[in-house]
Amino acid sequence: MVELKDIKGLITSPTAADNELLESAYNFAEMAHGGQKRLSGENYFSHAAETAKILAEYGMGATTVTAGILHDTIEDGRATVEEIKEKFGEEILFLVEGVTKLGKIKYHGADRYNESLRKLFVAVSQDIRVLMIKFADRLHNMRTLEHVPEEKRERIARETLEIYAPVAYRLGIRKLSRELEDLAFPYVYPKEYGEVLSLAKHKQKILREGLEKFLKSLKKELGKAGITKVRSEYRVKGLYSLYKKLLARDKNIEKIYDTLAVRIIVPTIPDCYRVLGVIHGTWRPLPRRIKDYIAFPKPNGYQSLHTTVFVGDGNIVEVQIRTEEIHRNSEYGIASHISYKETGGKNRATAVFNWIWSLLPNREGENEGVSPSSSGDVPQWIKELVEHHETSNSKSSLNEDLRSDFFHNRIFVFTPNGDVIDLPKDSSPVDFAYSIHSEVGNKMVGAKVNGKLVSLNSKLQNGDIVEISTKKNAKPSTKWLDYAKTTIAKKHIRSVIQRQKDSV
Ligand code: MN
Repeated sequence: MVELKDIKGLITSPTAADNELLESAYNFAEMAHGGQKRLSGENYFSHAAETAKILAEYGMGATTVTAGILHDTIEDGRATVEEIKEKFGEEILFLVEGVTKLGKIKYHGADRYNESLRKLFVAVSQDIRVLMIKFADRLHNMRTLEHVPEEKRERIARETLEIYAPVAYRLGIRKLSRELEDLAFPYVYPKEYGEVLSLAKHKQKILREGLEKFLKSLKKELGKAGITKVRSEYRVKGLYSLYKKLLARDKNIEKIYDTLAVRIIVPTIPDCYRVLGVIHGTWRPLPRRIKDYIAFPKPNGYQSLHTTVFVGDGNIVEVQIRTEEIHRNSEYGIASHISYKETGGKNRATAVFNWIWSLLPNREGENEGVSPSSSGDVPQWIKELVEHHETSNSKSSLNEDLRSDFFHNRIFVFTPNGDVIDLPKDSSPVDFAYSIHSEVGNKMVGAKVNGKLVSLNSKLQNGDIVEISTKKNAKPSTKWLDYAKTTIAKKHIRSVIQRQKDSV
């Protein structure tokens, strides 16, 4: 059982007010969940405490961690909206309700909608902290998935693999994405999991021996060059990510050099290049495997120097060289930028752009399945967001920017086929119809939202499924100009009305 002191201990320099907040949330949630049990037989409250602990481990501040403790108290516990608002304030209530809303999005199970669903997932969260709480919640649920009835396990695991892990990956939270993938993998592809596991175990056993020797002589060589502040660690490739790579390499594990990699972590960027120099001066590198992601970061912000060298006895080792700061960013991504104690800060701009980039379909290009619907043009809403950030130099926090500039101005709705259409806030079925096709708009006679007939001036909400009915002889009415929010709809309506006038 996670105790309050375990959570407090993980928060960076908490104030007295932070500690008080955490304590009152901890006690409140314990009461709100009193008597409730998880499927594992544990107290329900243990899930709340574990979720909060994960958030604290990911460096979240007291507000987010508190919301993490409380995240199920309304939906599953006995707490009310009013209680949370009164005791913990509007901001924490917003986060708790956001997590509940996000939980309502369910995976369809059809690959062609995945990209849409990932976007919707991000859009509905409205705030990066809501997303982080939902991730922590899912991580704990995945760690305890064995207790869930068998028929539910696969759906949850598949949703984790298709939606949660890719979104975490694009936000640069690799540590989380890796763990989610590896927890879900055995449930979604049990047979393949077994195969990859035995392949990897065998390969890594051989590699590890070569690695130990290599690291020893590397440290000696670095010492000779006067580089002594060196930390090293092994990076074992996640099994699911290995599986995806195997599929791309004819299932030949000999063609994959990074099943086990060595990370060399040094204080400064010049040190990184000096380490690379020492390595290449001592061991022969494989051609075309030297990557300078420090000078040229990957589009998602990833940085490191990569090289692959022959280390003797037929062994080949991938080496990744980076600073502590780069290391933290590459494991925690956007999560490492969410700090509410810092004001301003040079990392903010980078974080905003990483966030935007992460939403761009297939910018990364590797490790991601390319779905036909997601290739092609950059969506308009992302362009608008980029333009806005290029011209704004507001002093508000990253989080405020993300909330007010983007999420509050756009909504995401579904076609009956599950494709996502993004529209400005307060859009009507008229906007929706014209964004599908001008002829759908021009011939529209009615609209259904979530299966119910609605008037054409009703306002669409995030996640609505919208269905338009058309008739061959139908025509737009002048009134629609008031219902439309988008320029494209207004343009089409005006042009039809003009044509009618002209022909009279
Ligand atoms: Mn939960």
